[in-house]
Amino acid sequence: MLNIPKVGITGGIGSGKSWVARIFNIYGIPVYNADKEAKRLMFRNKALKTKIRQLLGPESFHRNGRINRSFIASRIFNDKKLLKQMNAIVHPAVREDFEKWASAQNAEYVLEESAIIFEESLDKFFDAVILVVADKEIRINRVMRRDKVSRKQVEERMRNQLNDEIKKKRADFIILNDGSTGVIRQVDKVHKSILKLKKKTS
Ligand code: ADP
Repeated sequence: MLNIPKVGITGGIGSGKSWVARIFNIYGIPVYNADKEAKRLMFRNKALKTKIRQLLGPESFHRNGRINRSFIASRIFNDKKLLKQMNAIVHPAVREDFEKWASAQNAEYVLEESAIIFEESLDKFFDAVILVVADKEIRINRVMRRDKVSRKQVEERMRNQLNDEIKKKRADFIILNDGSTGVIRQVDKVHKSILKLKKKTS
């Protein structure tokens, strides 16, 4: 569907982005998982692989063509400039892939799930952005359980993310996913607002 409305769904690690996106999916809304698709593109997209190899060297890929995650992580997470250069290569490829995917969907709107919409100023690509929030303690406990990692490891991953107060100011919709308020009811409300939003602009 050409010009299908595009909505971003974001939130800090452990906020429950995937959990909430799954509920939208039950409503019939197709969901594109940016992180997962970026990994797929790094395996499949030849032009992208060539650019990564040029930036980080031949060790970026194993002999079987699979990406060498630990090598790449060790290079880019200790070097801000390289991380920026890597993002400048990967993000446009994901954007292009998402746009292609979105125009092939037949739905009221589509969702893109991404942890870095505000961090990387990707909000300009969406008609609206939903932010999923939960207290830091809840998020830490969820991720420790989900990924079988230590508190310290979760806190390290959180360090690169913007805090919720900044993100809340930039979001169009906020969903509180801390168990205190019904998530399905909130999703229902946001879904209806997005449908109205769509009617206004189309
Ligand atoms: P994110 O994608 O934001 O990192 P997830 O959606 O993976 O977070 O949620 C983190 C963990 O918490 C997952 O294991 C998920 O199943 C669980 N979780 C998230 N929201 C809820 C909820 N409302 N009730 C129960 N478990 C939840």
